[in-house]
Amino acid sequence: MTIDTTNPATGETIAKHQELDDAGIEAALDRARTQAEKWRAVPVDKRGRMLRSIGDAFEARREVLARQTTLEMGKTYKSALAEADKCVSAFRHFAKHGPSMLAPETYELTSGGRAETRWQPLGPVLAVMPWNFPMWQVVRFLVPCILAGNVGLLKHASVTMGVGEMLDEVVREGGAPGGLFQNLVISSDKVAGIIADDRVKAVTLTGSEGAGSMVGEAAGKALKKVVLELGGSDPFIVMPSADLDDAVSTAVKARIQNTGQSCICGKRMIVHADIHDEFRDRFIAAMNDVVAGDPFDDATDMGPLSSMDQLETVEKQLAAAKEAGATLHGGDVPSRGGAYIEAGVLEHVPLDSDVAREEIFGPIAMLFRADDRDDALRIANATPYGLGAAVFSGDAEEADWFAERIESGMVAINQMLASDPAAPFGGIKLSGHGRELSRHGLHEFMNLKTVLLD
Ligand code: NDP
Repeated sequence: MTIDTTNPATGETIAKHQELDDAGIEAALDRARTQAEKWRAVPVDKRGRMLRSIGDAFEARREVLARQTTLEMGKTYKSALAEADKCVSAFRHFAKHGPSMLAPETYELTSGGRAETRWQPLGPVLAVMPWNFPMWQVVRFLVPCILAGNVGLLKHASVTMGVGEMLDEVVREGGAPGGLFQNLVISSDKVAGIIADDRVKAVTLTGSEGAGSMVGEAAGKALKKVVLELGGSDPFIVMPSADLDDAVSTAVKARIQNTGQSCICGKRMIVHADIHDEFRDRFIAAMNDVVAGDPFDDATDMGPLSSMDQLETVEKQLAAAKEAGATLHGGDVPSRGGAYIEAGVLEHVPLDSDVAREEIFGPIAMLFRADDRDDALRIANATPYGLGAAVFSGDAEEADWFAERIESGMVAINQMLASDPAAPFGGIKLSGHGRELSRHGLHEFMNLKTVLLD
């Protein structure tokens, strides 16, 4: 069996990747276990130097990796380069600051004695990753994994299997010993068996609720730690005191980045009634100006969606929204072939309709009018998701009021939400649980061992 990759801009097959058979999976798991025993004994400073070296190898291959990313999932080449550079910054951030995050701590006990805690690795960790940021999602898992003294196994999205294979090569080019990181060319039906295997100690997934629920169930059954980073339908709130020019241009950027296929981009624009009509007219006009086209052309704002399947999903959501009474501005599917869709805005989406509660993974914003800040908050929280949010307000007290009350793992004030290696990343509600990045992400897959001192 093969896993075939397709260029979503043209429909052409890129490659056929031979799937690992059962013996191949066995060998990979054995390699992971053997390396995990060695790697856990490597001092933290040396693990940090390994990160630096892999980061350098990654930087040397940034163009090749970016090109493969664009070919496989359609994002603009310039944004793929930016993604590669962000990966390099994560390697360097954790190489520099990570070792001190693993320092032991001492505690004065109520009994009068003393205890010490030490961060210890767990062993091989499986990562099930998506196609939308096919380098960054993997690196975000892998960098803390290596520093923690764990080893990584990747089940990458079928759509971006070629990127998975390249990442495997780059890590080895950076000097990593065999088994420190392995891309497994497997389909998703092999994942539950790997989670159940004794050699695998924990699992992390970024993707849809459906995949999250399956992986969470398999991890629960095996009583293994799991981190889930699932979808989001982030609110983007604009209040009358906001800088409207900034709010409009950031709203467009947020909604069209990665052709709308980002878990943390503003997807539901919630605008106060006093400025709603002006925001609406300017936002619709600006979305209309977005250029969708050849992702390798520097003048393109947005490439195609990641696949024809993804296009079909978005088209069905738009049809359902219209059926429920919404009006769509833009969002046309050009006849030139490929998984292209124009940017668009949905108005008058009933709050109780399915689409208002779903994640639209395409460049289509939903626009809502809010009577006051309580109403804006009510609309913001009227979703089963709780990943991120953005608030645009010139009033610091008001922005903070929202930051306190929005049901989400992250809030950005007067800016577009973006992940950063130094800050925790993750959500609540159906957006999942656990955190990635920062020391919180580093500690997720570690044993915090308490030693009562003599
Ligand atoms: P999936 O959640 O299906 O894919 C993510 C990863 O999970 C892939 O590696 C996939 O493998 C794997 N996977 C899928 N099903 C299972 C399973 N039952 N057991 C184990 N692993 C599994 O995303 P899709 O590509 O289907 O996209 C569907 C929707 O998910 C999007 O429209 C979007 O709403 C959401 N999504 C959210 C992302 C985020 O960043 N939060 C990222 C991607 C999607 P394979 O590719 O082989 O199926």
